[in-house]
Amino acid sequence: MKRGVYRTYRPGYPPAVTNSERSFFGHPGGLAILFLTEMWERFGYYGMRALLILYLTAAAAEGGLAMSTADAGAVYALFTSLVYFLGLPGGWIADRYLGQRKAVLFGGVLIALGYFAMAVPSMVAFYAGLGLVIAGTGLLKPNISAIVGQLYAAEDERRDAGFSLFYMGINLGAFLGPLVCSWLGEKVDWRTGFAAAGVGMCVGILVYMAGQRRLGDAGLRAAPAERPESSTLQLRQLALGAVLGGVALAGVAAAWGLGWLVPTAESISNAFGVFLILLVLVFFAWLFRTGNWTPTERGRLWAIVALFVAAAFFWGAYEQAGSSLNLFARNATDRTIGGWEFPAGWFQWVPALFVILLAPVFAWLWTRLGSRQPSSPVKFSLGLLSVGAGFLVMVAASVRSAGGAKVGVGWLLATYFFHVVGELCLSPVGLSTVTKLAPARVTGLMMGVWFLAAAVGNYLGGRVAGMYETVSLPTLFGIVAGTTLLAGIVLALASPRVRRLMGGVR
Ligand code: GLN
Repeated sequence: MKRGVYRTYRPGYPPAVTNSERSFFGHPGGLAILFLTEMWERFGYYGMRALLILYLTAAAAEGGLAMSTADAGAVYALFTSLVYFLGLPGGWIADRYLGQRKAVLFGGVLIALGYFAMAVPSMVAFYAGLGLVIAGTGLLKPNISAIVGQLYAAEDERRDAGFSLFYMGINLGAFLGPLVCSWLGEKVDWRTGFAAAGVGMCVGILVYMAGQRRLGDAGLRAAPAERPESSTLQLRQLALGAVLGGVALAGVAAAWGLGWLVPTAESISNAFGVFLILLVLVFFAWLFRTGNWTPTERGRLWAIVALFVAAAFFWGAYEQAGSSLNLFARNATDRTIGGWEFPAGWFQWVPALFVILLAPVFAWLWTRLGSRQPSSPVKFSLGLLSVGAGFLVMVAASVRSAGGAKVGVGWLLATYFFHVVGELCLSPVGLSTVTKLAPARVTGLMMGVWFLAAAVGNYLGGRVAGMYETVSLPTLFGIVAGTTLLAGIVLALASPRVRRLMGGVR
């Protein structure tokens, strides 16, 4: 960091805090509002997600929906994938029409309504609730991060630290949500757990509304496209989306009419999977064809493709926390302490706690290493290797649990430790690297691409969990470990090449 930059933040110099008189750990006061809003949103999301697959698969006598794991995995995959997928149109709608501030508010209201709907004893209300959460999160999640970015002037060096603080808010929510909702959901009643998620979101909305003044004018207006190219790009983007959506709908309708598609959870989820893969392929093909990219830009786009694939594999393994690993916690882990069995969902707050504890260590490490720190492709590869190592631990744990034995809590704790080490290598650098690599006129679009990688990953993670009963666990976890380790090795070997493609961006 340059010394001159520090100087401007000394008291008496042009004020460091632009949008509010009061500051938040030396950051704009508005960050406190966004931190708390996102904390409560994640409280709801991870609280609800900790219950979801357990509720879907629990026997009717236990108040669950008694689904097979194949069906439950399909519903879970479709839902968690769409939550991230809708970040693409959600960001776009805010950019063009609503502005980020309103998008976050509307999104929050839809999410809260969604959780309350899931608490209503009706199948229609439950699925409508899932739909509302998808739409609401699509509006809220990308846009609240965009507002964080707008709290800082372009040259403000505190921006990265601001995002790290915000990531803490995410994980504080991800820690508290499963703690409260799993206890209520598993020990009292599933619906009380879902309603608690809704109450959390309501608190978030109240904080957000009360804090409007402290946000200044960050995210207030829909930003008009800065350059004519970017507005054509967005128009083409919309047209492409409409055509793809139309083709997909027509295809589904035709398949249905021909009797090829029986609308079950699995077939709908399959259809979505095909759509997702086609969309990714068409999207990148289109991206390379449309822009008049310079050779450097083209190289960087290829680097983004490599990082995208790596991130999709990473999230595919990591996000099984809520699916297969949640099932393993319920079915195969000894959870009794002093005669009391704690809820399976309590394992869901472990990764968040590890993030809170380890993030400062990693921040220190990267600063300490300075220019000697590994490049982004190497960090991505470390992320993949670490998540793979976590699944190797699960192979050993599932071998021990064969024949219905219950294993100690240490196995899942060790697995989550590796997963979080991987997350901290990959996730914080991911978004910033992708935005730095993207040609300026498509930065917003590339943020959406980052969420698209999470959508693909969540889909994979859910579908793998669907095989929980049909494939032996050591094999299933072994395949996940093998795939991610292999991907990590390939990326490590390719990293000098990827670095060259990055054209000077670290
Ligand atoms: N855990 C982070 C969050 O909830 C990142 C999740 C993701 O991108 N898959 O925001």
